[in-house]
Amino acid sequence: MILGLDIGGTKIEGVGLDSVTFETLVTLRNVTHTETYEGFLLSVRSVIDEVAKHGNIESIGIGCCGSVDKAGLMQGANLVILNGQNFIGDITKNINVPVAIANDADCLALSEFKDGAAKEAQNSCVAIIIGTGCGSGLIVHNKLVTGLNNLGGELGHNPLPNYLAEVDGSEVLCYCGSKNCTEAFVSGTGFARTFSAKYHQANSKEIMHQYKQGDSQAVAHLDLYCDQLARVCANIVNFVDPDVIVLGGGISNIDEIYPLLNAKLNQYTFTKNTVTKIVKNVYGDSSGVRGAAFLHLQG
Ligand SMILES: [Zn+2]
Repeated sequence: MILGLDIGGTKIEGVGLDSVTFETLVTLRNVTHTETYEGFLLSVRSVIDEVAKHGNIESIGIGCCGSVDKAGLMQGANLVILNGQNFIGDITKNINVPVAIANDADCLALSEFKDGAAKEAQNSCVAIIIGTGCGSGLIVHNKLVTGLNNLGGELGHNPLPNYLAEVDGSEVLCYCGSKNCTEAFVSGTGFARTFSAKYHQANSKEIMHQYKQGDSQAVAHLDLYCDQLARVCANIVNFVDPDVIVLGGGISNIDEIYPLLNAKLNQYTFTKNTVTKIVKNVYGDSSGVRGAAFLHLQG
């Protein structure tokens, strides 16, 4: 079987899939130990060892924050104990199977491309996670594009396209140092921030509750949000022209956004008769762990 691990700040999920049918054979969870690196390694290793009791592991894919630098050391991880560590080398001691690592957006892209919302795609898709932040992954010719600097497919810190203060609200200084990053508007955090700055303090759930009651501010805000995300997706179409764009993360669960997004997309694409669809993921929270398992099956 192929093993996928989804490592988060609070829990580690492991899934063993049949390597031919992709049927789920075993699913396990463990608490992520974040106090020491050694404790963290043990918490990951125990999931691998438990899954191994259910069958022969042929490969291990790991979905995790951060990336691996040229020296093989972790960098940019929210799980800060990982940074500077040879995580892949340490976790594969005494394990003689291929191990690969990717971020959550790349795993979402792979999961949905393999047999989810993008399974009809001929050879490309873009996946965007709109949750606390905004991460994205790109598949071209059936493979993840990681890129020279590990930035392939990342659009969260590009400027929001067609930004206008009178439409989108005041300028936002992002933690990355740039102004008006896409993430600051289209993430779940950005969704609530923009509304709160314009009308009154509210979180995403409260905004959608108001929307369902026909509140004019919430209705206008969802329309603006979809307009912003449609601009982002139009830029993707203009540059990559993928077969499909798949959304994941908390905001992707708002079904009302899809008709709005798809209606607005053509307003911003270079040609106005594009047929690209923006769709919801199929596998939800399982996309990370499934996509991780598929890391070795690309191409
Ligand atoms: Zn930024």
